[in-house]
Amino acid sequence: MPYAISYNFEMPARVLIIDAPSYQDVSGPISRALQELPGDLRAKKVLVKPNILGAHAPEKGVDTHPAIVREVVKQLQARGAEVWVGDNSGIGGYGANERSAKASGILEASGGCYRNIALNGKEINFKSRFSDKLVVSREVLEADLIVSLPRFKTHSLTVLTGAVKNTFGYAVGGEKSRLHLRAANFADFGEAVVDVFQIRPPDLTILDGIIAMEGYGPNNGTLRKVGKILVSSDAVALDRVMAEMVGAPAEKIPFLKVAGARKLGETDLKRIEIEGKLERIPGFKLPLSPVMAPIGQMFYRFLYPFIRVRPQVNGGLCTACGDCKKACPAGAITIDKTARIDLDKCIACYCCNEACTYQAIQIKSRVRNFLGFGQKMISSRNKKA
Ligand code: SF4
Ligand code: SF4
Repeated sequence: MPYAISYNFEMPARVLIIDAPSYQDVSGPISRALQELPGDLRAKKVLVKPNILGAHAPEKGVDTHPAIVREVVKQLQARGAEVWVGDNSGIGGYGANERSAKASGILEASGGCYRNIALNGKEINFKSRFSDKLVVSREVLEADLIVSLPRFKTHSLTVLTGAVKNTFGYAVGGEKSRLHLRAANFADFGEAVVDVFQIRPPDLTILDGIIAMEGYGPNNGTLRKVGKILVSSDAVALDRVMAEMVGAPAEKIPFLKVAGARKLGETDLKRIEIEGKLERIPGFKLPLSPVMAPIGQMFYRFLYPFIRVRPQVNGGLCTACGDCKKACPAGAITIDKTARIDLDKCIACYCCNEACTYQAIQIKSRVRNFLGFGQKMISSRNKKA
């Protein structure tokens, strides 16, 4: 690959699993986490990049919890860093960033360091099969250090959304939508996620797993207390450990496969030094996807058109705000009294599900019984492990 950045395999990858029972006081866990960022931070420009998926209140468990952001900012500033906080929320509108940061509590938690990083995009040459140009936030390119703060969640398309996937938010507004359209299936999208990650892997990732999301994340899943913060300077190794914790088949998850093949981080669990206790979370529910299919991916591909997991609008919750329409890369949504989805146009990217702050778009299979069966098998397999 033409990129200069490659993980240094001379140094063993290290992942910290830190106990963090609640958001009430995270100063100890964050202090331990930031020890992984050695050196003098005075006058260093540090971009703190939470996962602000949309305008969700903290108790919804969708965005990074503001308590984590507040403490990271405070401790970085105490070490003399110039801190910027920002994320490109959702998938469509450039104006959504500030609204989402405000609703999530992160605008306030940033203590005046918040930046709307969508306002300062720069088009770069992008080494990807899906596009040769990409507009990314200038802060991503200009920061001396990036501290990424994803949330521990499942994802209906990529199975997990953690350290690597959080960097997809480097891309500004509609750029994410454009990539979704060009990399429309689960394998291609996994590769596109790594293409973006490779622009600038974060220097440190602190994963908010105090309250995680299982099932059909990243927006519509079920909250689950895990009580952990995961930390690493190797984002790929961190995601590999997260996959182990939830019982996901790491060797089949496209973004982990691609990142490992490109040597962007460690995917071999035996070569990852773990500080803390690595334990399987019993019965953690994963989304049904081609990756997770218990019947094998080839067969699943054949069946996919029939059992495909689809977005569905709950008319009772829909306010006809139009955010899903703006987010849809396939132009499959129209707004009448409620949102309506043309399933013939839908590419099952779930951007609408991410964009809807009213949880009015749910992810459903055409054959619900099959989906229920699959979900049960996946979680019971975890229980046995
Ligand atoms: S489904 Fe959600 S995002 Fe779409 S119009 Fe309805 S409330 Fe808005
Ligand atoms: S309607 Fe389909 S194509 Fe459009 S955003 Fe939703 S999942 Fe993606």
